[in-house]
Amino acid sequence: MTLQMDPARTKTELSDRSFKQLIDGRLLEGASSQPVIDPATGEAFAVAPVANESQANEACLAAARAFAGWQKTTHGDRTNILEQIAVRIEERRLEIAQIITLENGKPIAEAEGDVDAAVTWLRYFNSLRLDPEVLREDDESRIEVHRTPLGVVLAIIPWNFPFFQTIYKLAPALLAGNTIVIKPAPTTPLNAMVVAEIVHDLVPAGVVNVVGDGGEIGPFLSAHPSIAKVSFTGSTAVGRKVMASGDTVKRVVLELGGNDAAVVLDDADIPAVAQRIFEKAFWNTGQVCINIKRIYVHSSQYDEFCTELARLAEKAKIGPGLNRDNEFGPLQNARQFQTAKNALGIAARDGKIIAGGNVIDRPGYFVELTVVRDIEETSPLVAEETFAPIRSVLKYDDIDEVIERANRTDYGLGNSVWGSDVERATTVARQLESGTVWVNTHSAVAPDVPFGGRKQSGLGVEFGIDGLLEYTDSSVIHIAKKAYSDN
Ligand code: NAD
Repeated sequence: MTLQMDPARTKTELSDRSFKQLIDGRLLEGASSQPVIDPATGEAFAVAPVANESQANEACLAAARAFAGWQKTTHGDRTNILEQIAVRIEERRLEIAQIITLENGKPIAEAEGDVDAAVTWLRYFNSLRLDPEVLREDDESRIEVHRTPLGVVLAIIPWNFPFFQTIYKLAPALLAGNTIVIKPAPTTPLNAMVVAEIVHDLVPAGVVNVVGDGGEIGPFLSAHPSIAKVSFTGSTAVGRKVMASGDTVKRVVLELGGNDAAVVLDDADIPAVAQRIFEKAFWNTGQVCINIKRIYVHSSQYDEFCTELARLAEKAKIGPGLNRDNEFGPLQNARQFQTAKNALGIAARDGKIIAGGNVIDRPGYFVELTVVRDIEETSPLVAEETFAPIRSVLKYDDIDEVIERANRTDYGLGNSVWGSDVERATTVARQLESGTVWVNTHSAVAPDVPFGGRKQSGLGVEFGIDGLLEYTDSSVIHIAKKAYSDN
């Protein structure tokens, strides 16, 4: 079904539609249901199924049963199925993007970008192979390393790029021979139910399961004894709980929060750099783990940079995402909206607001893009992860001092350095403590480049061959060529 681009009609069609979970090969109603809120209005526009513990248990057990057969399928069997999933996603591109925009709030062009990225990542993983490696071979022995699947993967998804995150976990999990249980965030469930529709007749029963969450089944699922690995993307606080849950030695990959710094060197071209930093700081209305959240500018250029960033924030077009004129959508949910309102209060208390600063007087969860200057680093707005469109600009004089200040955080997801002398900027970049450090860009991710956090920002990586290997164990076959010799 391709929905029309008339927002009212799109909403009517979705409100009439029945979204289903996928458990053991069957598209199922929830044990209960919940309204899905359009953050651009604050009103419900659709209904999503919600699993109880019994359904969640069924999904885990079905995935465990299906693993026995799925792990024996060939690489070609799996790549054929994954390619068919890619084609079906492409066929439903606009429909999926509209659903993402309605439940998440982001502008439709960005939602389309999420769908395109999902297909790109899926096809990238589908191009990889996990062939055995011969580590050593001589007359006496041969030692092979095989990559074996783990079993059932639990994918716990946040609400900020929900469809993309679901697909970039599903593809490597299945390619490596695992089965999967997908748990979307409670406020963005519908895109995952579309994944259920897309895959249900392509994969054997139980290989992919999608369960709806009303906000309660996460701990049950992550402690379930059938789960071999949790691939979690979300906050550091919940990541710690996921890691500690259950009584088994399960694998975890944790992609957690970040408090990324951008260091603007004193040779930077301020208008050009301010434009790029603006885009990376406010992307997705400030709700990206790898948004720039702290901006350090040399004192000689501080005023110029602040003025330029404030000018860009003031002229941004903010409104409902289905209107293609809008560049920024609402906060994703009521809790996020409250977080943003609290952060605006802290900004007014601790710094000088030079752009925005207010809730927007219209229905939905909208706040102005806000720039704050002359703020102390001890303010929670700077010291903690601000997951809202409110960004702080800080002044520095000395390069060693700014490196130390940028690193003075428990987070270590991303950082960036900006300057005209690329070699000098790169030298600074090497001293910043994060999973990725960008030079003259930020938030740039790619399917073949491993992505992960240092310190409290995570454990393990996603993407690239390293990301695929996270969905496997290594199994060593050590062969003594002469029977019963002791080599
Ligand atoms: P969150 O941690 O509250 O929720 C993430 C997911 O975990 C949701 O599906 C939620 O339902 C589930 N969950 C909540 N409690 C759980 C529990 N006890 N057991 C199992 N699952 C549970 O995070 P959020 O508010 O959805 O997302 C915002 C946070 O995520 C930010 O900190 C952001 O930086 C981080 N994030 C990180 C990345 C990354 O790649 N590093 C990407 C996106 C978001």
